[in-house]
Amino acid sequence: MTPLMSSPGHIDPVPVARPAEPRPDGKIDLVGLSKVEMREALTTAGLDAKGAKLRAKQIWHWVYNRGVTDFALMTDIARAQQPWLTERFVIGRPEIVEAQVSTDGTRKWLLRTPDAQDFEMVFIPDADRGTLCVSSQVGCTLNCRFCHTGTMRLVRNLTAGEIVGQVMLARDALGEWPSTQDGRLLTNIVMMGMGEPLYNFDAVRDALKIVMDGDGLALGKRRITLSTSGVVPMMARAGEEIGVNLAVSLHAVTKEVRDEIVPLNRKYGLEELLQACADYPGANNARRITFEYVMLKDKNDSDADAHELVRLIKHYRLPAKVNLIPFNPWPGAAYDTSTPERIKSFSNIVFDAGISAPVRTPRGRDIDAACGQLKTASEKKSRAELDRLADEKQAALG
Ligand code: SAH
Ligand code: SF4
Repeated sequence: MTPLMSSPGHIDPVPVARPAEPRPDGKIDLVGLSKVEMREALTTAGLDAKGAKLRAKQIWHWVYNRGVTDFALMTDIARAQQPWLTERFVIGRPEIVEAQVSTDGTRKWLLRTPDAQDFEMVFIPDADRGTLCVSSQVGCTLNCRFCHTGTMRLVRNLTAGEIVGQVMLARDALGEWPSTQDGRLLTNIVMMGMGEPLYNFDAVRDALKIVMDGDGLALGKRRITLSTSGVVPMMARAGEEIGVNLAVSLHAVTKEVRDEIVPLNRKYGLEELLQACADYPGANNARRITFEYVMLKDKNDSDADAHELVRLIKHYRLPAKVNLIPFNPWPGAAYDTSTPERIKSFSNIVFDAGISAPVRTPRGRDIDAACGQLKTASEKKSRAELDRLADEKQAALG
């Protein structure tokens, strides 16, 4: 465990996420294990060191390069050993509870872990790329005021296997094995689904290492973006140990507003956050940091806010681009979306200062797949509905 991520201060809104339960069938899921961990798992199960090394190499290739989930299909492993492996290990995928397709081609999957935790994953096809939006937690402890995920009560960290498993599932669905084939639809990954990736650092790092491994899922680090709401103490480590592109959910330029809409700001303030961005390893003019800015009507969208944003970016000499995200509404949200004219004016001010500031078109709104709309159906059910279901269950039991 990483001590920094699991020691919430007195102003952290919610306690640390719960860890995953072991699989109910007692088997070990090989997905999410590094090469070394896979070898150790085989040694613990009884193989000698030499055998474990060879098998781990073979299995790694079948699992991450070929997408095989059945030991019986691993043709270079002795037939006699296949049942031995099947008894002890699985090559898992998150269970698919529901798959939806938006009118704009965006796809959303409701997924379930073996201990029955639901979370979501989204695939956004574009003309020149396909982006998979991956979750790092079931829910989120951070409660940003404009984000539906932040209202989920149950929060558990996803394991490395459950994180890399999302990418593997998407590859299954798109028919994109082996990993090394050309012309793939899934070209980019953003850690922008449910959860705060830097509050689940170890699992996110381990998963992304497998995604980036040339003999693993083989996606380059420049095609991966990690988005954080500003967990300052973990940002340098993210740059050093993961090394992917960084996106920061800025959303406000004053302490007052950011404290309100991103409560984590009360713990790690704007100055600290922007300094951590300036220090982010690997950021330069060719690899800019993306500042996400959700446009909330009359809250953070004035011309003065835009000018202050420019000032801050220049003051900290940040190699930055800004993504303006029109607020995606959800039932009960306390905010409205800024008008298109307001967003245009804001964007122009930033753009005129020489900083790229595209306005993001919301994708998959009709299936609640857009930024900040992810919240699983089980959690969306009202108290009354849950009570009714409990009554029905009680009645069925007699
Ligand atoms: N927890 C991480 C990553 C997930 S959120 C983070 O906060 O950065 C991905 C992006 O969607 C973040 O910038 C988030 O602030 C933004 N977002 C959340 N709710 C939104 C909403 N309702 N409308 C538009 N964007 C939203
Ligand atoms: Fe969590 Fe990100 Fe939503 Fe904030 S915006 S509640 S950090 S998922």
